[in-house]
Amino acid sequence: MHFKEIVGQSQLKSRLIQTVKEGRISHAQLFVGKSGFGPLPLAIAYVQFIACKNKQETDSCGACPSCLKFNKLVHPDLHFSFPVSTTGGVKTKPVSDDFINDWRALNLEKPYFDLEEWHKTIGIEQKQSIISVHESQAIIKKLKLKAFESEFKFLLIWKPETLNPQASNKLLKLIEEPIGKTIIILIAEDEEALLRTITSRTQMIRVPPVEFSELKKYLAKKGGIDEERAQQIAALSEGDVLQAEEKLHSSEDAEVYFNLFVTWMRACYEANIEKMHAWVEQVSERKFGRERQKQFLEYALEVMREGMIRNYAGSTLKRFDGPEGNFLQKFAPFVHENNVFGIMEILNDAHYHVSRNAYAKILFMDMSMKFANLLRVKKRTFVG
Ligand SMILES: [Zn+2]
Repeated sequence: MHFKEIVGQSQLKSRLIQTVKEGRISHAQLFVGKSGFGPLPLAIAYVQFIACKNKQETDSCGACPSCLKFNKLVHPDLHFSFPVSTTGGVKTKPVSDDFINDWRALNLEKPYFDLEEWHKTIGIEQKQSIISVHESQAIIKKLKLKAFESEFKFLLIWKPETLNPQASNKLLKLIEEPIGKTIIILIAEDEEALLRTITSRTQMIRVPPVEFSELKKYLAKKGGIDEERAQQIAALSEGDVLQAEEKLHSSEDAEVYFNLFVTWMRACYEANIEKMHAWVEQVSERKFGRERQKQFLEYALEVMREGMIRNYAGSTLKRFDGPEGNFLQKFAPFVHENNVFGIMEILNDAHYHVSRNAYAKILFMDMSMKFANLLRVKKRTFVG
């Protein structure tokens, strides 16, 4: 990990680089900040810089023997501890090393991630994870070995909030009486959740939100979006790269869903089998995926509900402004008391069946036929 790969944080980067240049690297540090501010990639870039044999002015070289190993996170003096749990493959006393390949792969693929994503990666969405006393024992064993190639041994502990009390006490000892030349960096989101005895013995580095202009630049480049859009998303993301990425993706999806919905309704209203078929092919494609099929159906339910409400009560949800609002204005009259219940039921049923691995092509074609009928049902005219 290089400093240049981290979004923003220029002040903090120079401060960290300065500690190395002046040879005053504290042996126990606590990086505190939300995952989306980048404390973990910063800590990795920092230790890579410390170990680099050919330091550049503002970053590690990326090409010396040390950097080559750091680039793959396989340097023998680089150790990680992070919360884990038992899984199908690891039945008892799980420790970080059991999951180190997943850990490296995730970090290399996506330097910004949170605990939820980590759980997903190792398949424990439904479980709690902790750093256990077995882990502390494993750490101590590793740190007792001499540094192999670097002047220092590095231990990065991610989410020390999940240390259980026994493990915390063992760690505390390690911080008080370090073994050899060791640099320990705790990477936490919530320092309140740590033992006071630990926080008081570490040098705290606060990782602030990413600067607005830097986040905007990052979004424009990564998402391939124009400046105005990047500005909007950055403004709502509180300097948090993860939040910004999520907003970027959900706004991309919303546009896809909206276009799909419009095409679908047109095909159904025209009862045009050829168009329906083409549409069904599009949503049934493997790369579209079951998760998005479900989200699309939820979106469709929301649009139908909103259409119905506009029709009768005229109230509107703010999120359906812009092109969606214009479409809804024209579409609303087609959703009324004589067909809305049928429409909702079909969408809900489809959602249920998609979740249970129904065959998408048949399901969506079937729905399209039913909608072709329902959209032609006339709104009742009241004869008094
Ligand atoms: Zn280097």
